[in-house]
Amino acid sequence: MTIDIHDIEEIIQQQNVWRQTQTINLIASENTPSEAVRRVQNSDFMGRYAEGHPNEGEQVNRYYQGTQYIDRIEHMAEHELLELFDAKQADVRPISGNAANTALALSILRGGDTVIANSTDAGGHISHGAVGVFGRRIQDRGQSLKVGGSNSIHLNYLPLTEDRYHVNAQKTIELVDQLNPQLVILGKSLFLFPEPVSEVAAFCQTKDIPVLYDAAHVLGLIAGGQFQSPLQEGATWMTGSTHKTFPGPQRGIILGNLGDPAALKKYWQPADRGVFPGSSSNHHLNTLPALLVAIREMKRYGQAYAAQIVRNAQALGRSLDELGTPVEAREFGYTRSHMIAVNVAQWDGGVEVAKRLEENDIIVNYNMLPGDADPRNPSGLRIGVSEMTRFGMDEPAMSELAQLIHDAVRGKKVKDAVHSLRSRYVDMNYV
Ligand SMILES: *Cc1c(COP(=O)(O)O)cnc(C)c1O
Repeated sequence: MTIDIHDIEEIIQQQNVWRQTQTINLIASENTPSEAVRRVQNSDFMGRYAEGHPNEGEQVNRYYQGTQYIDRIEHMAEHELLELFDAKQADVRPISGNAANTALALSILRGGDTVIANSTDAGGHISHGAVGVFGRRIQDRGQSLKVGGSNSIHLNYLPLTEDRYHVNAQKTIELVDQLNPQLVILGKSLFLFPEPVSEVAAFCQTKDIPVLYDAAHVLGLIAGGQFQSPLQEGATWMTGSTHKTFPGPQRGIILGNLGDPAALKKYWQPADRGVFPGSSSNHHLNTLPALLVAIREMKRYGQAYAAQIVRNAQALGRSLDELGTPVEAREFGYTRSHMIAVNVAQWDGGVEVAKRLEENDIIVNYNMLPGDADPRNPSGLRIGVSEMTRFGMDEPAMSELAQLIHDAVRGKKVKDAVHSLRSRYVDMNYV
C-alpha cells in the first residue's frame, strides 16, 4: 500500500467501538443494520451506474450497458417491497427519504401552488417547511425561488387538536376545502401518533387533491403492522427512509397503490420522472442488495420487532414520567410509535440537556416541542428506542434506562452505569 490510511482506519475503529459497544443510542432516526445488510454493501456495484429501470427481456429501459445483475436485484427489491407493503407501485431508486420527497416536489408542484403540511414546531420535517424542498420549488432555470415570493409555494400548516400532538381532521378538511391546495402532506419527524389519513384522504379524493404520507420515521413500524397503513387508508404516495425504524441501508423509497390508468398517468408517471432525472441519477447501487436483505428481514421478523419497539417506547415514557422527568402526551399513553418527547425546559432546555446526556454516552437529539417559538432554544428531547430494541432491550431494561436518563438530566454522572447497561445488550436480534 503506497498511501497511509491508518489514521483514517483508526478513527473508524474508534467510532465503531464507541457507537456500537459503549453508547446507548436513542436518536429516533437512526438504527444499526444487521451484519448481513452491512456485508453485502462492499461489492462491485459500488462503482456502477444504472439509470432508468431494469431491462426486461428484449425491452431496453437502461441508459448504460452492463446492468444485468443490478437489473435482477432492482427487480427483486421492487417486487418484494410491494409484497411487504401490499402496494402496487414501488420506486427503490431515491437515495434517501429527502430525495424521495424532492422527486415528488419537483414533479407535482409549480411555483404559486399551495401545500398543506405539518409545521416544524409541530414535528414537521425541515424539508416540509419554507426553506425545504416543498416550500421553495426550483424553477426550470435552476434558481430556487425566494421564500415567500409571489411565485414560491404557499405553505400552510395542518391544524392540530388542543393537545398539539394530533392533526385535527375536521379542521384540516375545512382548510383543504377553503384553500384547494395542490398537495397535502401527512407524516412528520416528531411522530408520536398516527395521522388521520382516511378522513383527510377521503375528502381530498372528492376534489382530486393528492395526499403524500411521509413515512420516513415509521416505515419499519408500518412494515411490521404496528402503525397505520397509509396506502390502504387512501394516501396517493408513501415515501420513506429505509434506515430509521426500517433497519436497512441509507436509502429512500416511494410506494403507490394506484389502481386505474388515469391515476397512474397523473400521479405515478410524474413521480417516476421526479426520481430520475429529477432528484437522483446513479442510485448508490451497492446499497440496493442491502435493502433487499433488510426487506427480507422485515418480512420475517418485522412484526415482532415493531411490536417490541412500541412497547419499549411506551415503557420508557411511563418510567421517566413516573420518576418525575415529564414526558409529553401522558393522557394518550405517551406514544404509539418508536419515540417519546421529553420536556426538559426546567433543566436549561433541550440543547443543554442533550449535551449533558452525551457526556454520559447517552445519545439523543434536542427537539422543538409544539408551541416552541425559537428553534435555537427547544424545550424538548426526542428519544427513540428502535436501535436499542434491536440489541435486545425490553421493558425492564427501559426502566433501568429511564433512571439513568433521569439522573443525567439533573447533572449526575452515570457514564459507568450506562456502559454497564449497554454491555448487557450487544447482540443483535430480529435478524
Ligand atoms: C428523516 C426525514 C426525512 C429525510 O429522510 P432522509 O432519509 O434523511 O433523507 C424526510 N421526512 C421526514 C418526516 C423525516 O423525518
